[in-house]
Amino acid sequence: MRNPDTFDVIIIGSGPAGFTAAIYASRARLGTLLITGTPWGGQLMLTAEVENFPGFAEGVLGPTLIKNMQQQARHFGAEILFEEVMEVDFSTNPFMIRSGDRTLRGRSIIVATGSSPKWLGLDSEARLRGRGVSTCATCDAPLFMEKKTVVVGGGDEAVEEALALAKYAEKVTVIHRRDTLRATKILQERAFQNERIRFLWDSEVREILGTEKVEGLRLQNVETGEGSEMAVDGVFIAIGYNPNTDLFKGKLALDDRGYIVVHDDTKTSVEGVFVAGDVRDPLYRQAVTAAGDGCKAALDAERYLGKYQS
Ligand code: NAP
Repeated sequence: MRNPDTFDVIIIGSGPAGFTAAIYASRARLGTLLITGTPWGGQLMLTAEVENFPGFAEGVLGPTLIKNMQQQARHFGAEILFEEVMEVDFSTNPFMIRSGDRTLRGRSIIVATGSSPKWLGLDSEARLRGRGVSTCATCDAPLFMEKKTVVVGGGDEAVEEALALAKYAEKVTVIHRRDTLRATKILQERAFQNERIRFLWDSEVREILGTEKVEGLRLQNVETGEGSEMAVDGVFIAIGYNPNTDLFKGKLALDDRGYIVVHDDTKTSVEGVFVAGDVRDPLYRQAVTAAGDGCKAALDAERYLGKYQS
């Protein structure tokens, strides 16, 4: 009988990369455990409408997409543990993972821990987090009904946050450090057409003002050096992501930005440990590319385990 704490594949992370890996691995009849991390489901759980995941002509809600993936993985026999991984040891074989009060062993591992939003790094931002400072308009926009809000950033995320906020807020100002957005054209067009959204170019936030809650911003124009203040009730930071790799420092090779270094598509510096999704991808970061990565990592794990039939 199989040791209940030993698996062919242990997948760490529960976004589209992790669940797709779990679907492929369990369908290949590998003993598969996925440890979700907390909160589970990754960034899609905080995404309202996903319009660009193939196969959903009318779009699909992010949490629905993730829950369907979870169901599909379970259907093929994947076990799912809703816990946080505390420690990994890749020097033993099978590899060791400590999660909650359990010590689990995996003959192969797939790391799919994703990434987390970046912060500006201001003291005032840390102090007022949850008091008007947020990185999730999908979660918090209803709190800003008819209020004045800003979004910091110029990528897809910033524009999507602005569009989400504009459904509730009286005014949304997108503050960008340059004078052109890097967001996709279709999102730009929607934002430019939305009369509640305006743009403040060439500007950076120097301080978030307020004691108990956000009351305003101190800004600087980076072209002229001129300073100004703006009264606002909510500040949404949307300036990109950092990979979730703290657990793997000293255990896997990481690049200078903390992303897991890959070779041959999904392989890490440790043979038998594979990687998928945003934790290795500073460039594409799409649900569909993460899912594709998860598929590749599971196939590579299967091949590594010597069970791949081609
Ligand atoms: P991003 O594309 O890296 O954009 C980050 C933005 O924040 C850039 O405009 C950048 O300015 C600005 N920025 C970075 N650091 C800053 C700082 N310290 N102070 C002020 N501004 C700063 O990140 P993202 O928008 O989060 O998107 C990440 C990835 O997810 C992208 O690949 C994106 O396409 C994808 N995504 C896709 C969708 C979708 O398809 N619907 C939705 C959301 C995200 P510069 O432009 O000057 O560098």
